[in-house]
Amino acid sequence: MAMSPGSSDRSADAATPGVAIQLNGVTKTFGSVTAVDGVDLSVTDGEFFSMLGPSGSGKTTVLRMIAGFEVPTAGTIRLDGEEVTHTPVHQRARMGIGRSYQVVKLFAGLTCGDAAELAIQRDRPVLDWIRPSARKEIRAAARELLAKHGLVEWERHETTVLAHGIQKRLEIALALANSSRLLLLDEPMAGLAAHERAELADLIRALAQERAVVFVEHDIDVVMALADRVTVLHNGRILAEGTPAEIRSNALVREAYLHREAVHA
Ligand code: ADP
Ligand code: MG
Repeated sequence: MAMSPGSSDRSADAATPGVAIQLNGVTKTFGSVTAVDGVDLSVTDGEFFSMLGPSGSGKTTVLRMIAGFEVPTAGTIRLDGEEVTHTPVHQRARMGIGRSYQVVKLFAGLTCGDAAELAIQRDRPVLDWIRPSARKEIRAAARELLAKHGLVEWERHETTVLAHGIQKRLEIALALANSSRLLLLDEPMAGLAAHERAELADLIRALAQERAVVFVEHDIDVVMALADRVTVLHNGRILAEGTPAEIRSNALVREAYLHREAVHA
């Protein structure tokens, strides 16, 4: 179960079954800046969890700590009950964390097909790259991966010339190549046209059927439409946590984050 925000019960700092990812008292400081301040959160298997908050509230830093790109200054992170606070990124990736970046990162000069093959290859023995039978398997798996994400028609296109929405979809496909059971998404809708956002929302919804998702987004309407549970960050702290409906009607959230009359109904 999720711990209540701001809970100071350190005895709760233990593995909880059915929880994909669990943060206990996680803090991150950069010099004099406290980016994340004593965050407790947990995401259960199969849950679509969203982090909402204004720019600079610490959302990306939380994701980077979950993925292993930053080490917390204090607190613990557990993946599937196993402490991974200091576990390196590649090892966490092998444990099932897939991540899409806030800014699309694809290599120039590769086709979608190449990129998919590389992603499939990632967790296989290096020699598979040159063993003909293994190459064949990798190619087939890459094709299947592209098909699953509606990308087959782009197989021979160079990744960097694709429309932004297609690139985003490819990036998510690559992150999930090794059947990640936890997907981290950092503002995947940013910079997309309306129809691309709708398509991506459908894809993310489908992916969420099979895995836990931590979805960072500042567009509250997108979050409300997709998430099972929402945590609102403000100045690195959890301001509120609940279902989209609870967040919508939370006075603190309206006051501190939304600066509007009311959240859209
Ligand atoms: P968000 O994703 O919610 O916009 P971030 O997690 O990116 O917020 O940033 C939270 C705070 O931490 C900001 O004040 C930001 O400037 C600071 N910060 C993030 N990363 C670093 C870093 N590598 N070095 C110094 N300050 C950082
Ligand atoms: Mg961010």
